[in-house]
Amino acid sequence: MTSVFIRTVSESVSALSAAKTLLVVGSKEALAASASHISALTAHLPLAAISNGHSESASHIDADGNVFNVMALSTKKSRHFGSIRGDLLHDIVSKNAGKDKDANVVVVLDSEEQVLTAALSVARAFPLYTNKQKPAAERVINVHFKLQSAPTQPVNVAKLQTLADAVRDAGKLIDMPPNELNPTTYVEIVRAVWDSRLKAAGVTLEVIQGTELRDRGYGAIWNVGKASDNLPALVILSHTPAAAKKNVVFVGKGITFDTGGLAIKSKEGMPTMKVDMGGSAGVFQGFVSTILTAPPTNYNLHAILCIAENSIDERAFRPDDIITSYSGKTIEVNNTDAEGRLVLCDGVAHACKHLSADVIVEMATLTGAQAFATGLRHAGVLSNREDFETTVVKSGRTSGDLAYPLIWSPELIGIETLMKSEVADMKNSASNRSNAPSTGAGMFVWSHLSPEEKWVEGGEGRWAHIDMAYPVTVGARATGYGVGILSTLAGELEKEFA
Ligand SMILES: [Zn+2]
Repeated sequence: MTSVFIRTVSESVSALSAAKTLLVVGSKEALAASASHISALTAHLPLAAISNGHSESASHIDADGNVFNVMALSTKKSRHFGSIRGDLLHDIVSKNAGKDKDANVVVVLDSEEQVLTAALSVARAFPLYTNKQKPAAERVINVHFKLQSAPTQPVNVAKLQTLADAVRDAGKLIDMPPNELNPTTYVEIVRAVWDSRLKAAGVTLEVIQGTELRDRGYGAIWNVGKASDNLPALVILSHTPAAAKKNVVFVGKGITFDTGGLAIKSKEGMPTMKVDMGGSAGVFQGFVSTILTAPPTNYNLHAILCIAENSIDERAFRPDDIITSYSGKTIEVNNTDAEGRLVLCDGVAHACKHLSADVIVEMATLTGAQAFATGLRHAGVLSNREDFETTVVKSGRTSGDLAYPLIWSPELIGIETLMKSEVADMKNSASNRSNAPSTGAGMFVWSHLSPEEKWVEGGEGRWAHIDMAYPVTVGARATGYGVGILSTLAGELEKEFA
């Protein structure tokens, strides 16, 4: 197993631990400005080639086989990035921190506002999950963030460490194969984390599982998950401080594997569908890291994980079935592969009915069309309020979990136009795939919020729907998307509800 420790965040990097690999990465400007300081760490570092501006990377291997890498980090970025190219930092660290033995990673930053994104980007370069015959070597990665000057705000290294761990823990859940992570084992994992880390912080856990979902009227999640031997579950984690004035609910899609149901996916389309619980992993670890680092005092914070396996056997729900969601609305199923919005609609209905939600943020690997709308790195965000949409997008830029708005236009792109049913309140999938399908999927979930007037355009309720179908992974590995944006957003809401 690889352990990642954030050792220092300061204007000086003191002596490094003994390690096989030393990687120093930063913008050319930052490396040049820190050249004398960095060079003092070791004589072997081929820093000059880069700080002189002649090269993007340089390596040296000494007689003992120790590796010294210096890499330039591009500063090319548009306004839809944050303070640093976290994507490139992640890539550089993944490839240049060595594959075995311990490593020191020194990230030379241009400004202190880059610390959060940099820490989470480095963390996600070291995924936890593996199932190879040969066990993964034990190794330690020591991470140092070198600032150009003393930080103006004290940097809480322990908090950064917790957030970095949460990114890796979320990534591990997502990387787990569906024969290890199913609704039953997922609930066990959540319960164990609650028991060991959250209970002492005053968090309560409620699990509504299996036939209890059916019997209590959670017809949407029940129908999606009833064909699996491991029946679905709605998991509710709640932190309720005494002075709370508002209720904030994070809701995550947790499809542990998506076959597509009877509308079965193809042999090309089905592999990788283990990541279809990535929204719930981000919500879970976003909640955990918030509670452990900066538990809100001004509002109740709840996390709802909508966990199910979209499987098939003779019990599976069918196209043409009409199912009743927890909101009371009826849904004519026309696509069993549009199951994420179904589990989410019961989650948000629970948030409205039982938790008096004022703010709902749901996160999901919801639509393939998300990549057409906002690309591979930016999640799509749909919201009923422009101010809240801006807060969510900014939280993404601050943390490196990037996001960009999807069009909000209920009058043109609402379920009445997209998903009209003759026999039920709605269908679950749009017939026209050319009319902003990622927005349509979000609008489906939105239509299950109550009371309706609270969640209209500019209404009192703040709703954001984050479709992160593509940012959930880079290559074959999970990114732990969600921890950064949700923990940052939680901090913004704490200020707002003060
Ligand atoms: Zn699906």
